Amino acid sequence: MSIVSINPATEETLKTYQPMTKDQALAAVQVADTAYQDWKNRSFSERRQIMLRLAQIFRERTDEFAQLITLEMGKRIEESRAEIQFCAEITEFYAEGAADFLADEDMAVEDADAQVQYAPIGVLLGVMPWNFPFYQVIRFIAPNLMAGNTTLVRHASNVPQCAEKIEELLQEAGLPAAVFTNLRIPHEFVKPIIESPQVRGVSLTGSERAGSTVASLAAAKIKPTVLELGGNDPFIVLEDADVAETVKMAVKGRMVNTGQSCVGSKRFILVESVAEAFTAGFKQAMSELKMGDPMDPATEVGPLSTESAAVKLAKQVQDTLDAGATAILGGDRPDCQGAYYNPTILTDVTPEQPSYDQELFGPVATIYVVKDEQAALELANDSSYGLGGSIFTQDIARGRRLARSIDTGMVFINQPTNSQAELPFGGTKNSGYGRELSKFGIYEFVNKKLIHSP
Ligand code: NDP
Repeated sequence: MSIVSINPATEETLKTYQPMTKDQALAAVQVADTAYQDWKNRSFSERRQIMLRLAQIFRERTDEFAQLITLEMGKRIEESRAEIQFCAEITEFYAEGAADFLADEDMAVEDADAQVQYAPIGVLLGVMPWNFPFYQVIRFIAPNLMAGNTTLVRHASNVPQCAEKIEELLQEAGLPAAVFTNLRIPHEFVKPIIESPQVRGVSLTGSERAGSTVASLAAAKIKPTVLELGGNDPFIVLEDADVAETVKMAVKGRMVNTGQSCVGSKRFILVESVAEAFTAGFKQAMSELKMGDPMDPATEVGPLSTESAAVKLAKQVQDTLDAGATAILGGDRPDCQGAYYNPTILTDVTPEQPSYDQELFGPVATIYVVKDEQAALELANDSSYGLGGSIFTQDIARGRRLARSIDTGMVFINQPTNSQAELPFGGTKNSGYGRELSKFGIYEFVNKKLIHSP
């Protein structure tokens, strides 16, 4: 079946690709392994030069790549530009930091010399999603290429042009052939790729379903995985929060990438005394957002990534409404062409309803009102997910104290969860395991080898 690039704002077909055959895909693994035999021996300084050239390309051609993202998956153009800038930052972070992160480390033992050396492990497979089509790939490859591994990327089917462009610009940056390969393959070829002896690790960002399938294949062959899956992040508003500021952050947290972010704020948990003021302000702000063409910088709500994503979200919301929830804003799709969904706020959501524990990947917020801080923590932790979360309070020390009780990989005080090159990113529970970004991200696929001598 061909792979089709479709503009979700207009439903226009942009480009059609033929997938690789299984033989071509398996041959690509062999070539990536041959490339690994050379790449693993290159110096940090040589890898650094290439990665810095890559960062420079991101900075010089931001608009070109941003337009491609917006065209292919509908992200608002300002956010697409920010995504490319972030790619430059991540690339520079690992280009400059890898030699230190991976320097040999002496261990303190008596009567012996002991040292840990960080060695690359081989060819890695990345299964990547469409929601940040450049950033997700760079987050995976930047640390791993600096560590000396080579990479195969099986990108999401709805962003084939972004995948092709990434491969092209890595070559322009001077990366040797097959150190990065864009694998344009159907799902069923992922199994034989993972089973290839040369593939030594797998990283997947996406849904629980895909994560569980891919990680099971890797586990069967005893290969390490990193899983960055969905989230249902709590956004807790305590009684001492600055309501006006918190409302601004709530809109930002829920509407990032038109709600299609794993660390988007999704469950708004309000302590009783601020509930009315917050809800009124949030509803007002969400209702004023201007929907439109994602290429227009004035647009505040773009389309979802595909028509099927909009249909899936509409069904989740409708099922929740049918089960007794209330839409105090939206709850439906606008009457226009494209994969649009109206900004929506749901209340009266109960544990039996789909929107309680399912990830809503779009501009839909759920609001819960609770008695006090303890009830807020309990509700925040009543989720199968554990990715990020935020607490809003004017008492920072209180926020930091409560953050210890939240069962997620990241908690931010007075801002929505976000990512930064220097900070670890990842979750717990069904949100996955392992860490990306920061120095932790580079330790996932290296052999921490002990050398011991008298
Ligand atoms: P998927 O998890 O299906 O897609 C993510 C990636 O995994 C894509 O490259 C996809 O390929 C691939 N994939 C999916 N199933 C398999 C499989 N069995 N074997 C090999 N590769 C596979 O996400 P969707 O795009 O379908 O979105 C569904 C939901 O997942 C969203 O609504 C959201 O809740 C969550 N999600 C979370 C993301 C995050 O950032 N954590 C990112 C994307 C989705 P293909 O495109 O060809 O199907």
